[in-house]
Amino acid sequence: RIAYVNGRYVPHATAGVHVEDRGLQFSDGVYEVIAIAGGRPIDMTGHMERLARSLRELRIAMPMPARPLRMVMREVVRRNRVRNGIVYLQVNRGVYRRDHPFPPAAVPPSLVVTARSGLGPSAAVTEEGVRVVTVPDQRWARRDIKSVALLPNVLAKQAAREAGAYEAWQVDADGAVTEGTSTNAWIVTRDGTLVTRPLGDDILAGITRHTLIALARADGIPVEQRAFTVDEAKAAREAFTSSTTLLALPVVRIDDAVVANGAPGSITRRLRELYHIHMAGAGGE
Ligand code: PMP
Repeated sequence: RIAYVNGRYVPHATAGVHVEDRGLQFSDGVYEVIAIAGGRPIDMTGHMERLARSLRELRIAMPMPARPLRMVMREVVRRNRVRNGIVYLQVNRGVYRRDHPFPPAAVPPSLVVTARSGLGPSAAVTEEGVRVVTVPDQRWARRDIKSVALLPNVLAKQAAREAGAYEAWQVDADGAVTEGTSTNAWIVTRDGTLVTRPLGDDILAGITRHTLIALARADGIPVEQRAFTVDEAKAAREAFTSSTTLLALPVVRIDDAVVANGAPGSITRRLRELYHIHMAGAGGE
C-alpha cells in the first residue's frame, strides 16, 4: 500500500507525520472520507466543499488548490488499486515547536491521503439491521466542523461495541438525538415522513444525509428536518443511520426497544436502492 504525505508517495507501512505536527499534538486538523465505487469518487464536490468550509472555520490554509488535491486523491486510489473502498484525507495546521497559538503564517499545513479497499458492513449486517445505544452527547459546540478531535466519538463508539451494539446515538440535554458517533440519525414516522435533525453547529452536515434528502424528495417521500427524541425514535416505524461508508444502515433496536417489527423498514430499503442507483450514475464527481 501507498500513502501520500506532504508531497511524497511513500510506503503505507512506514508513512508518518513529524512528532511536532499539530495534528498529533493538538488534534489541530480536519479530515474527509470519500467513498470510491466502481473506481470513481462519490459526491466529491460535496466533500471538497465541506473540507474547504472546515478549514475556513479553523483558519487553516488549503494545502493546495482543489484540482491538484483531487489529482492526489485519484493517484492514491490508483496506486492502491481501489475499486470499491474509501479515500481518507487529513489536513493539519502544520509542523512547529509545540505551543498553543497558531504558528507563523509561513508554516504550511500538512496533508495526508490514504486509500483502502472495502466499503461498508457485510451484506448480512445490512440485511438484518443493527442495534444502537443512546449516550449523552459530550462533544464540543462546533460539531459542524469535521475536526480530527474525535475522543468523545471514540469513547461512545467503544461503549456501543461493549454493549453489543453497532453505533451510539448521542443525545442532547433535551433528550433529542443529535447524531451517531460517525453517522447521521434518521427515523420514519408512523405516517411515513422521513425525519432527521436540521443542520446547525450541533451536528456534522453529512454528505450522505444531503444526498438522501435529495433522493427522498425526488422519489416523493416527505422529509422533515427537525429534532426527534429517543422516545420518538423507539416508537418510530423505521430508523436508520447514514454515512459515506454505511449509506443508509437500518437500525432495528434502540437501547432495549425493538423498532417496529425488528426488521429493516421499506423506506430505508428504498433509500438504499436509490443510493446505489445514485452511485452507479451521477454520483461520481
Ligand atoms: N456525523 C459524524 C459525527 C460523522 O463523523 C460522520 C462521518 N464522517 C457523519 C455524521 C456522516 O457524514 P458523511 O455522510 O459525510 O460520511
